[in-house]
Amino acid sequence: MEDNPPRSASVHIRIPPRTLVALAGASGSGKTTFARQRFAPTEVLSSDAFRALVADDESDQTATEDAFDALYFVAARRLARGKRVVVDATHAQLAARARLRAFAAAQGVEVLLIVFDLPLASCLAGNAARPGRRVPPSVIERQHAALRQARPGLAGEGFAAVIALESREALSAAVIEPAPAGDPGWAPGTGGCLSPVVIA
Ligand code: ATP
Ligand code: MG
Repeated sequence: MEDNPPRSASVHIRIPPRTLVALAGASGSGKTTFARQRFAPTEVLSSDAFRALVADDESDQTATEDAFDALYFVAARRLARGKRVVVDATHAQLAARARLRAFAAAQGVEVLLIVFDLPLASCLAGNAARPGRRVPPSVIERQHAALRQARPGLAGEGFAAVIALESREALSAAVIEPAPAGDPGWAPGTGGCLSPVVIA
């Protein structure tokens, strides 16, 4: 047995009922790959997929507004049925996260933010390696810088919890599990916020 097993060996992300899960991270950080591996396809609402639905092109940035309108419409209907929703979008900008929180507040749910805070080189490599859609590296650099700058203040923006995954190993080791309502591991006596958890 190792003296110092990696911290990422057993990471359990517990999700209580009536919690909206949101992913955040630069393009190529692995959000969609992670979501595909951990959640049912119908649970994941991806901004790229909704751009494709409304504009036949998942890269069409002019379709962003319509895509999020449609995404949140479906999200609201799912939440009203008590179904899980995972929003897969970069959420790099404050305005995008503010809209997410406003939506969640209107639905009466909390937001668990999972931040894919990988090194820029990993995001650029992931983008270069994937088949199909490629994002210009300069865009990824901007998204990455914006999230790095926002990271220290994310917990204070009003999320119920912020979990930062900082490496491919941490992504691989993360286990998603349902938690009961009022789970003490979620809101330990604070009536609200769990401290940000960093998984390197
Ligand atoms: P976008 O915001 O542009 O949709 P994304 O964050 O959804 O990007 P993905 O499409 O999930 O990123 O990942 C991009 C590429 O990164 C994948 O095609 C794969 O090559 C690589 N990648 C993603 N996750 C992992 C992982 N856990 N281990 C190794 N490589 C990965
Ligand atoms: Mg994606």
